[in-house]
Amino acid sequence: MKILVPVKRVVDYNVKIRVKADGSGVETANVKMSMNPFDEIAVEEAVRLKEAGKATEVIVVTVGPTAAQETLRTGLAMGADRGILVQTDAETQPLAVAKVLKALVDKEGPTLVILGKQAIDDDCNQTGQMLAALLGWPQGTFASKVAPGEGSVTVTREIDGGLETVQLTLPAVVTADLRLNEPRYASLPNIMKAKKKPIETLAPDALGVDVAPRLTTLKVAEPAKRKAGVKVADVAALVDKLKNEARAI
Ligand code: AMP
Repeated sequence: MKILVPVKRVVDYNVKIRVKADGSGVETANVKMSMNPFDEIAVEEAVRLKEAGKATEVIVVTVGPTAAQETLRTGLAMGADRGILVQTDAETQPLAVAKVLKALVDKEGPTLVILGKQAIDDDCNQTGQMLAALLGWPQGTFASKVAPGEGSVTVTREIDGGLETVQLTLPAVVTADLRLNEPRYASLPNIMKAKKKPIETLAPDALGVDVAPRLTTLKVAEPAKRKAGVKVADVAALVDKLKNEARAI
């Protein structure tokens, strides 16, 4: 079976986010960009399924600017076989990405699509669900275990206060949660090998998809600054403040 893994180029999770002076968005100029962490988990899972002989090919795909090729190369260095860049300089929103992915599924015919549960830049948590709806495929979201069987896949889902196990008829959409696996670091030889793996570039138009944004960001603001703390003289003073000022006890 072929596995398609959509990967998004986002601001690296170690970077301290700065809001643009005009409040129109987040500063991305001269900022380190990386693969969305949940997408690394999705790639790792797909590569492990291939290594276990349960998948035949792993294709990484990204919708974004030319620079997003780097993100595809990271996936290829982790073990994916080939990449597809759907090139656009427009802001990529979940519905547009889901439509592009649907067109690629129609073209490539994968049996499983494994996405990240959420992109850490927009925190939307929508693309996998929208893709499953557009395809009419079953979905197993927030996966912490994925076990493909004959014609189906069993997915353990992280839900509030516990785990839920569902069986999906293949083809299906799965979204990866944090505990699914620990992604590998690409070794230097694999980074070198990845440079030779093929990346196909397509325009959204060629897939018949209009990726123009449908949502407008009105304002982005930093969280309110926390007030400075105070040092109290002793436990009695602390208890008094908790009781009478904070009213926490
Ligand atoms: P979101 O719905 O934006 O939180 O994203 C959920 C998942 O959809 C991500 O973890 C990726 O697997 C996938 N995704 C979102 N945007 C893109 C994109 N521009 N290119 C490729 N995959 C994407």
